[in-house]
Amino acid sequence: MDARESLKRQLIKDRDRIITLVQDMVRIPSENPPGNTTELYAFVADFLQRQGLDYQTVAPVPEWPNLVASFDGGEPGRHLVLNGHLDVFPAGDRSRWSSDPYAAEIRDGKLYGRGVSDMKAGTAASILTYIYLSKIQQHLKGKLTLTAVSDEETGGEWGTKYLLDNVPGTLGDCVINAEPSTPRTIRFGEKGPLWLNVELRTPGGHGAYTHQSQNAIKQGARLIRELESLTQLPFEIPADVEEKIEIARPALDEVLGQGATDIVRAITLNIGVIRGGDKMNMIAADCHIEVDLRCPVGMPSQRLLAEFEQVLSKYDGASYTISGGHDANVCDPNHEMVGILGDNAEAVRGIRPYPAISIGGTDCRLWRERGVPAYVYGPTPYGMGAPDEYVTLDDLLGTVHVHVLSAYDYLMG
Ligand SMILES: [Zn+2]
Repeated sequence: MDARESLKRQLIKDRDRIITLVQDMVRIPSENPPGNTTELYAFVADFLQRQGLDYQTVAPVPEWPNLVASFDGGEPGRHLVLNGHLDVFPAGDRSRWSSDPYAAEIRDGKLYGRGVSDMKAGTAASILTYIYLSKIQQHLKGKLTLTAVSDEETGGEWGTKYLLDNVPGTLGDCVINAEPSTPRTIRFGEKGPLWLNVELRTPGGHGAYTHQSQNAIKQGARLIRELESLTQLPFEIPADVEEKIEIARPALDEVLGQGATDIVRAITLNIGVIRGGDKMNMIAADCHIEVDLRCPVGMPSQRLLAEFEQVLSKYDGASYTISGGHDANVCDPNHEMVGILGDNAEAVRGIRPYPAISIGGTDCRLWRERGVPAYVYGPTPYGMGAPDEYVTLDDLLGTVHVHVLSAYDYLMG
């Protein structure tokens, strides 16, 4: 029996052990904020150690350790990097959960728990891929690297970004990641956020003497209406990306709701926060607005920012700061890895996934920005960032199988 066939058999045999690993990981909270992942990190490190595998701890912030592990195959070849994060959203109000968010209960073929979909099931898939392939290391070509990071949910500065900037050998030739997506898509790109804090200031005054000063809140209301025009700016999506977006339309709309594909293609505007004024009968002298713009592939955030500045320049006393963001990013939708993931997904789940652009962000961006193709194939998230988060066991097991086999195929290809 060849190595690939025995991998498949082993995966089927290990069904319960795979599920138990994810349950064990869910039972160790790693909420971010505050983002202390040391306990979960110690669990993962110990899990690798018990398989006789070495790892490196990279902890520029002691409470947010990152794990890097790597092995070479028996022959030279390509370098594949596996990436997942250990930190999760906070559980929030526990009374809104049907069961303890850290009990990792299984009901009706679903595994419940905070962070199970984003992304402990996925990170377990990366860890297991590394372990399964380490056992046939000598039969493999190339090199496999595992990165399990601790700072994804709040920006990645001390997680993946730190690794890529400071730890040699983490860039690789290709990356796979199991962030929540859906078995119906392989994500090859994502939109780019542009987050702006706007301050409007006017002299203010007595609320009866409206001739004496502009009202900063009313200015804010006008500004918000005017900012809607940014969503109508013309731009061009590259043809190969556009084609993939349209092919994936039915799948994406079914999973994320009608209209999701239109949002993938659009500049969107969300006003997340507005604050201003002091008192009913005073002219508001200040208004603070937090503007959340999202750029599709084809719309550089610098261009959108320039258009935003143009709008804002019409308001006396207005200023802004950038609180975060990056460009939309994309890698080759026709790369060999897309075919490999697609073939395995179809064989394992009976669903052929489409290459698609993601609305939300992942650490894959950091590789794509450095010219390394990075792909996401993961479980459908239910209740992500909300009570009663879960994944189906079918998605969980399917994600593990697809990642293990795809890593094998890529390294042997
Ligand atoms: Zn995530």
